[in-house]
Amino acid sequence: MRQIVLGVDGLSCEDLVDFVQLLPKSRRYFNLDSPLAVEGSVLTSPQGLWSEVLTSCDWTINGCVGYSHPRRSLNALAVMQERDLFVPPKFAAEETPESRTLSINMPLLMPKAKVRDWLSDGSQPVAYRVKPSKLLTHPELQDYSPRAFSDLSSALGRPSAGAQFIECEKQRIDCAAILMQSRQWQRCFWRMSVFDDLSHFVGMGFLKARDLLITKPLLQLLDHLDDLLDAILSSGEATVHIVSTFSHVACQGMLNLNNLLATGGFFTTEGNENEFRSKTNRMAASLLFTGMDDITNFTLRSHEGQLKTSHTLAASPVSGCIYINAKEYFDDGIVDAHSRHSIHQRLGSFLHDTLGKKFWGSAKIVENDEQSLKLAAGPMPDFVVSIDGIEFSDQPNPPRSLNDIPRTTHRASGFVLLPANQMIESKAIKPRQVLEVIGV
Ligand SMILES: [Zn+2]
Repeated sequence: MRQIVLGVDGLSCEDLVDFVQLLPKSRRYFNLDSPLAVEGSVLTSPQGLWSEVLTSCDWTINGCVGYSHPRRSLNALAVMQERDLFVPPKFAAEETPESRTLSINMPLLMPKAKVRDWLSDGSQPVAYRVKPSKLLTHPELQDYSPRAFSDLSSALGRPSAGAQFIECEKQRIDCAAILMQSRQWQRCFWRMSVFDDLSHFVGMGFLKARDLLITKPLLQLLDHLDDLLDAILSSGEATVHIVSTFSHVACQGMLNLNNLLATGGFFTTEGNENEFRSKTNRMAASLLFTGMDDITNFTLRSHEGQLKTSHTLAASPVSGCIYINAKEYFDDGIVDAHSRHSIHQRLGSFLHDTLGKKFWGSAKIVENDEQSLKLAAGPMPDFVVSIDGIEFSDQPNPPRSLNDIPRTTHRASGFVLLPANQMIESKAIKPRQVLEVIGV
């Protein structure tokens, strides 16, 4: 039996009731009585969460902590790719030309000659969107675009953005349908990103609302999805599991972990008098390491090229992740193996003292113990932090007003909606258990 994993990231268990209401034809194929909660640990990015799903391992083992990772310096980030995972995706060994994988808008997964049909999610530093190229004989696939906007932050200020997010997703459904008509695939990972986009754009609860500008196109989109799911499921040739790896909570504030580390004496920047120049330097550093051609202010979420690494003991180059500037990992690292232990201890106490007080115990601080850091195949953060309702921002300039604060932020809590005939004992699982439940 073929397996389809349909990602609906951004939706919560509570949204699920409204979501299935809008799928009147296909909902009878799902087990509506007992959706399974998926509870992650501290990572809230699609890359971090899907890495755990795809490899069936926690991030501490697979090495993926987010969209990017530092390689030879805390000043230099590279986009995280499938080949950077310490553990390959669980199904990778089973992919053959007769048992291909369809990968549609998935983070991390990359094209693989002859065994994968691949539509980009727009997060990888590559010039193509569709692979193999022979798929471009389909006019719909020629027009495939993973994103409605290259810059989400500026899109959020435009009233028409909602309709464009929806239109982009509608085209993707058509492209997914074309890929699924091929005879040779076995498993399909197909992620819709419109629910995440709309959560950022209009806030939470938009599936319930009926008076928004996006209501009509959104209902049409879900009708379109419903038709396709009904066609797939009535044929009996594939199972469909609907999976969300994260949901949204109202954003209550932003926190710059590097500024916090600076107050503890852990972090130093190269000075920032000429903002224009420093921004240009950061873009240049970013371009060099990601190879992307559309770096914008929004993609600069860290201090690329701005750290004074000769005076930095620890930094947060990736959202929520704090790395010690270890000589062992980084060419310009300054912490040697002897002092690492004491700095790790000092950093841990500092984070618990400051974040614990500031957020009244709602800060989650996960420590990577020294043993697993030793075993890791590359640089890994010593600490990862998440705080409900707080968006990490490493932009040097804080938001000027409440209007600049995002409406929502991610929470590592989602669900699996099982097929009607599948029963599971547990009520909640971890992201690493998702493929086991699905049987991929
Ligand atoms: Zn998001």
